[in-house]
Amino acid sequence: MQTDYFKSLIEQDSRVADIILAEAQRQSDGIELIPSENYVSPAVLGAMGSILTNKYSEGYPGKRYYGGQEFIDQVENLTIERAKKLFNAEHVNVQPYSGSPANAAIYMALLEYKDTVMGLKLDQGGHITHGLPISFSGKFFNFVQYLVDPVTHRLDMDQVRKIALETKPKMIVAGYSAYPRDIDWKAFKSIADEVGAITFADISHIAGLIAGGQLENPINYGFDVVMTTTHKTLRGPRSAMIMCKQKHQKAIDRAVFPGLQGGPHDHTTAAKAVAFEEALKPEFKVYSAQIIKNAKTLADELTKRGWKLITGGTDNHLMVADLSVVGIKGAEAQVALDEAGITLNKNTIPYDPRGPMDPSGIRFGTPAITTRGMKEGEMVKIAEYMDEVIKNHNKPEVLGSVKEKVKALCKGFPVPGIKV
Ligand SMILES: *Cc1c(COP(=O)(O)O)cnc(C)c1O
Repeated sequence: MQTDYFKSLIEQDSRVADIILAEAQRQSDGIELIPSENYVSPAVLGAMGSILTNKYSEGYPGKRYYGGQEFIDQVENLTIERAKKLFNAEHVNVQPYSGSPANAAIYMALLEYKDTVMGLKLDQGGHITHGLPISFSGKFFNFVQYLVDPVTHRLDMDQVRKIALETKPKMIVAGYSAYPRDIDWKAFKSIADEVGAITFADISHIAGLIAGGQLENPINYGFDVVMTTTHKTLRGPRSAMIMCKQKHQKAIDRAVFPGLQGGPHDHTTAAKAVAFEEALKPEFKVYSAQIIKNAKTLADELTKRGWKLITGGTDNHLMVADLSVVGIKGAEAQVALDEAGITLNKNTIPYDPRGPMDPSGIRFGTPAITTRGMKEGEMVKIAEYMDEVIKNHNKPEVLGSVKEKVKALCKGFPVPGIKV
């Protein structure tokens, strides 16, 4: 059945095809350290680029509003079945379009307008959907923001408990976008139980590490709801899913459809099924273990070179560096590293004296480079390149020479799905 879709695109619309080919070249030639990015398999791309995009299927398997659902029901049920197995979940909704709408659906399902919710502050590692005042989360709900310890920059569970006792939240959100350490799910659950709050874990960043058995699973600690994006460490299509206890099933399903969304993206659902099957394989355990080994090696190598990492290192796939010790701003570092073929993002550090638009730090991680097959030896080289760039960020000739070294390193590690 499969015709060569990309060939048709080149023939019919070379402007779009050329842009995609240029991006493929960029992805091949550079070192990708943005910790929320990854490279999906050709099989995932195959499902995503399939004719399932042609179908409308509002509703849920067996209860749809349009006809012709015999195969779509099969693919959605298969995706749910695999997700349940992967995360030991009681109920799974695989229809959310992405992480932010999934979080909106969770709040809509389990909270009332202006209810009190606790979430980690964005500039300390939280996510915009965890209570940023200008996001829907901060506008429609009374978010109380907890903070990391001012000295260790780690979560302070005594402070979380104190705030919970004072504010009596209806829900406590745990799970972050820029927190390099393990999360104490058990402590969150016990604090929530003490004040009668719903527990919500947003494992978007670390889902692949949990699925691969490297980090603890909040579901095993009795969390009510767990959301994950599927495109970060989990290495699937750009999308999300919500897992919950049976008692929340009805509210969650209703909030996703028709509460917030219309028709699900069935081609993406199929791609999630493919990614989940990949994550159930023993190779994925090896992959997720290697992500952490690589992150720890990168952290050690940078620390040896005088870098200051927030919390002193990492337990997962990412780290945040405070560049003020080297006398360079996060944005300058991002631009210089980009010039040298190394992609990452500027990021606030906890209690950042600079603003969010021009912060003191950078955030980076190892999921994508580990997918390419890079190991500890390559991390040593990458640390060396990053350090060279940061310490010579005003010297174009140094950036140019690092770029050549980066390209040479990348040649040995092809990106899945890209033939150059
Ligand atoms: C990435 C992320 C999201 C949102 O995902 P999008 O798909 O970009 O909307 C939500 N929560 C956390 C913690 C994330 O890291």
